[in-house]
Amino acid sequence: MIDQIAYCDAFPRDGETLVGSAFEQGFGGKGANQAVIAARLGGTVSFVGRVGDDQYGAEITANLAANGVDVSGVKATPGHSSGIAPIWVDRTGANRILIIPGANHALSGADVEHQVERIEPAGVVLGQLEAPQEATTAAFAWGRRVGSTTVLNAAPAAELSMDLRRTTDWLIVNESEFESLWGAPTTVEHVEHAAHRWNLSLVVTLGAEGAIGTDRRDVFRVPALAVDVVDTTGAGDAFVGSFAMAMAAGWAPADALRLAVVCGSLSTTRPGTQSSYPRPAEVVDALKGVSPEKGPQA
Ligand code: ADP
Repeated sequence: MIDQIAYCDAFPRDGETLVGSAFEQGFGGKGANQAVIAARLGGTVSFVGRVGDDQYGAEITANLAANGVDVSGVKATPGHSSGIAPIWVDRTGANRILIIPGANHALSGADVEHQVERIEPAGVVLGQLEAPQEATTAAFAWGRRVGSTTVLNAAPAAELSMDLRRTTDWLIVNESEFESLWGAPTTVEHVEHAAHRWNLSLVVTLGAEGAIGTDRRDVFRVPALAVDVVDTTGAGDAFVGSFAMAMAAGWAPADALRLAVVCGSLSTTRPGTQSSYPRPAEVVDALKGVSPEKGPQA
């Protein structure tokens, strides 16, 4: 996805033309952001996806490659635009966002099956809901076959197909996604109950409160870092990508959660999305200040 952010004093009404104050364009997309942080932290990352057969598609692919991500599974798709998100932000910070998935929605299960043939079995297979669920399910089915841990970031919020849920080992959602999937607010009891009902391990991110997770044996609660927040855009993706990297490296879930919270928090201290993601040295320093609280207390 390409984020196109237009800043204005107030939103134009129907039929009205206004002059805005500034424009910014940046690389986005949940999967791409998550791939970039995982690679930045030392992970070996292969990306499977589709971009448009347009200038943006070439730029998106080049950006991933420049960030150390293997892009041999990223295909340009004739007849589709790349994924674009035009975003309006007014002077109060309120926003209006249109998502045009473009080529992302052309990714099929068959595409994925073809691409994963060429990839080394991975420690973790990570998916989001910006690609069709059928494609992510194909990736997770492959992951299960080759012994990977499958991690699903169910964002943006949507009902999950039975097949996708059944092939998911770890589900990661934020509070509003949890509420829309589970139908009740995020409490320790609800998170534990949902993990058992869905038969998976579950993490819910809590913004400034950090995150809570359970592998259905233990419950882990990790507070966020106390930081000076500049821009929270992309914090959830920093969390998910670093969690996946740590799990792929064989870390215990409690330690992976600790890393994820630290990376999410550090990313809020700088503007932008991928450009706000921390480098390993900064993460190592910050990790010294955080210890997981194990137990049922929220
Ligand atoms: P999303 O952006 O997907 O809604 P959250 O808002 O839950 O996700 O944030 C994801 C992670 O980013 C949190 O678990 C935390 O580590 C970090 N984070 C987000 N907001 C803050 C904040 N205000 N202060 C410190 N850390 C934050």
